[in-house]
Amino acid sequence: MTFEDFDLNRQLLSAIEEAGYQAPTPIQEQAIPLVMNGHDVLGIAQTGTGKTAAYLLPILMKVKYAQGTDMRVLILAPTRELVMQIDKAVTDLAKYTDIRHVALYGGLGPKTQIETLQKGIDIIVATPGRFMDIYLKGEIPVKELKTLVLDEADKMMDMGFMPQIRKILEVIPSKKRQNLLFSATFPERVEKLSFEFLEFPHKVEVSPQATTASMVKQSLYEVPNFMTKINLLGMLMRDHERFNRTIIFCRSKEFADNIFKYLGRKVVGENKIRVIHANKGQNTRINSMEDFKEGNIQVLVATDVAARGIDIQAVSHVINFDVPLIYEDYVHRIGRTGRANLSGEAITFMTEAEEYHIGKIEKIIKQTIPREALPSNLEILQTPFVEQQIMLREIDEQRKKEDPDFKGAFHEKKDFKVKAKQKEASQKKQIIAGGKEARKGSFGKTSSSGGERKNRNVKKGGNSRTGRK
Ligand code: AMP
Repeated sequence: MTFEDFDLNRQLLSAIEEAGYQAPTPIQEQAIPLVMNGHDVLGIAQTGTGKTAAYLLPILMKVKYAQGTDMRVLILAPTRELVMQIDKAVTDLAKYTDIRHVALYGGLGPKTQIETLQKGIDIIVATPGRFMDIYLKGEIPVKELKTLVLDEADKMMDMGFMPQIRKILEVIPSKKRQNLLFSATFPERVEKLSFEFLEFPHKVEVSPQATTASMVKQSLYEVPNFMTKINLLGMLMRDHERFNRTIIFCRSKEFADNIFKYLGRKVVGENKIRVIHANKGQNTRINSMEDFKEGNIQVLVATDVAARGIDIQAVSHVINFDVPLIYEDYVHRIGRTGRANLSGEAITFMTEAEEYHIGKIEKIIKQTIPREALPSNLEILQTPFVEQQIMLREIDEQRKKEDPDFKGAFHEKKDFKVKAKQKEASQKKQIIAGGKEARKGSFGKTSSSGGERKNRNVKKGGNSRTGRK
């Protein structure tokens, strides 16, 4: 299915293309035709599923262009962040129209918001409290209202907005009004509200698990070796503002401990980071998670096993320090971001030996994870000989799995240990004697005994991806 299959106009299709949406998400496939046909809709979908565009696109289709002075659409949402996020989506999707919209929320004086309203408005996105405040000042004529959306209805109820919502429902016209209700969960109280609020609604529902992976902003860095991963991690985590609530996942307890120590001592400060893995006692793990949930710490380092089943919301970033070997864990890991109305990012570090697993993960999530160029000022270290050998052997194993006849490009030598030591010594010399080669940064730059593998260049400032064989 494509966006062309809906009866959307050129302006919207152009905006969709520019937003980079290639195909409708499941909630969009289901909800767009229903909303376009004027039905009341009850949507059960979390943030991250594309639910905002699912109701906005048909609404923008209906509103079409600026008309009159009074609002025709009202979208209510529980928090200032969500209101701003929805309003931003209106800005993006309505960019080729002259539709006028405003975000109304508290925390700042209403003066500018009222001035915008006074110029004439088509769509209002608001928190219930601020909407009512400005309505009571007589600044929001409601008689032209044709569409009402309650977004994140469950959260609005949890936050005690029901009295305001009821007041709003009392003052707006109910005739010929289309009502849309979206909620991440569907407890009894939301069901009750839906009976009150919706007329012969169509229910659409998507399971978050399958769609989360496709909605979180994902990216991937090709990094040649462990130490360069550490450098990159340090570089990213120094940006405290951006990476303000980050979970770093890694495969083993040892890695987790090392990352924890390094970041604690050198980058974020020991009081801003915690680590959870199977060797940590239950209480320590619970305390660490509480600290993270409450925003007292910036970083949580975790292994997959320790993180399974924990519900941590509002994570700004998930960093996969390594690629999980249980591929479903990738979906679980990144599903921890992009929650609670915050857009999330999942960043994966991948060595050449891990590229095989990324290929498998991309099959599961049915998309290619966009490759990012490494930061130009990142210090790229030469891959130590032993690490290189381990990676090459892993790659051979992977090839054998795919092709049982494959004999292996890397033939293990009997005197491997001796040769490895000699190589390591000569490599150290090379690094000391200039290190230019090392800083150029080659992805899997192999030593001569590395068999037939070709060198691959790490991208720096470039955008092409290394081809998988
Ligand atoms: P939402 O669930 O509405 O909060 O949307 C989550 C994110 O998905 C937002 O950043 C949207 O811009 C993005 N998005 C919405 N629809 C699509 C789509 N069809 N394809 C790709 N991204 C989308």
